[in-house]
Amino acid sequence: MGLTEGRGPKTVWANPTEIIRRLTPENPVMAFAPAVLRANAQRFLQGFPGLVTYAVKSNPDEAVIRTLTAAGISGFDVASPYEIDLIGRLAPNAARHYHNPVRSRAEIAHAAEAGITSWSVDSQSELEKLLGRVPAGSEISPRFKLPVLGAAYDFGSKFGATPELAAELLRAVADRGYIPSLTFHPGTQCVDPAAWESYILAAAEICDMAGVTARRLNVGGGFPSHRVTGVEPDLAAIFELIGRVTARVFGEKAPELVCEPGRGLCADAFSLITRVKAVRDGGNIFLNDGVYGGLFELPMIGNLDRLQVVTPQGVTRDSAPVSRTIFGPTCDSVDRLPGELSLSGDIEEGDYVIFHGSGAYSTVTNTRFNGFGQMAHLTVNALD
Ligand SMILES: *Cc1c(COP(=O)(O)O)cnc(C)c1O
Repeated sequence: MGLTEGRGPKTVWANPTEIIRRLTPENPVMAFAPAVLRANAQRFLQGFPGLVTYAVKSNPDEAVIRTLTAAGISGFDVASPYEIDLIGRLAPNAARHYHNPVRSRAEIAHAAEAGITSWSVDSQSELEKLLGRVPAGSEISPRFKLPVLGAAYDFGSKFGATPELAAELLRAVADRGYIPSLTFHPGTQCVDPAAWESYILAAAEICDMAGVTARRLNVGGGFPSHRVTGVEPDLAAIFELIGRVTARVFGEKAPELVCEPGRGLCADAFSLITRVKAVRDGGNIFLNDGVYGGLFELPMIGNLDRLQVVTPQGVTRDSAPVSRTIFGPTCDSVDRLPGELSLSGDIEEGDYVIFHGSGAYSTVTNTRFNGFGQMAHLTVNALD
């Protein structure tokens, strides 16, 4: 497993620059700052008007789960028996919401046995599979979708019922004596707060159509992380909007709110340290990590541009930026970052490029393709 391989001695480093200066690492290093993760957790716990659960898939590293639990995160969005058991082991008192709406019968049996009592569903056939197999008193949340809005990546193309179908499912859940709730996920890195407003309005219409009062409304993940220099996401504004719109459209019958951020909690607590293998004929840059490694999701959701070029002596290069094509280490031509990225013009072979804000969908999707992907995990006090 890439998560533990190459883990260095149990040392806490000051910051990524110190790691470069002291270790001049040849392989990629993922630097984790627990203090930043704790601060992110506090931002959600204090700002979000409801229960905060962590979407485990975005980064299931045990150090992340333990840090979040210690910081007060008491619920997790889990999608597989593996994630159910991981949280059962690391955070035995936490709530686990099994929010993958398609499951095999064996997976349902495993989850019921593990004590799962919150489930999502987006089709009649999958609801049929749950009925009678999940514990009495379970919460079942129809998941609905709207045409994609504002997000970097469209999760709705795979999951989610139309509002009409969601209303039928909600009615059926209530009729069968389970706790009726609703859930949606606006898509990842959703920078437009209006997306949540549209979904909350639709949730109220679904309850009206069904003639059912939803116990809880889960507003999904999608909370943005800081991916672009100078564009810091305004989480407080999104939290405020979610609370205000819910109170306005549901009034007395307002459901309790739940959110399930992945990226919004973990991404900015990590920086990926990569090394320049070559500046080919003074032009294209070849790094020791790429889209089969820690930069897996960039072709799907766009570049992360919070980059820092550092010499092996730990000095940040700050010359006029030059746009470059950046390739990863494998022999596959798709192993290339989208478009071009601006890097200090005096970058040299042997330098390091640090990708700040790279903790989501990176360590967990790192592969060993072509023999690369030997990523070390080190802990730092700060990321800059
Ligand atoms: C992936 C996922 C999340 C987390 O998404 P982020 O964009 O990382 O916040 C939340 N809920 C569901 C159902 C998901 O599939």
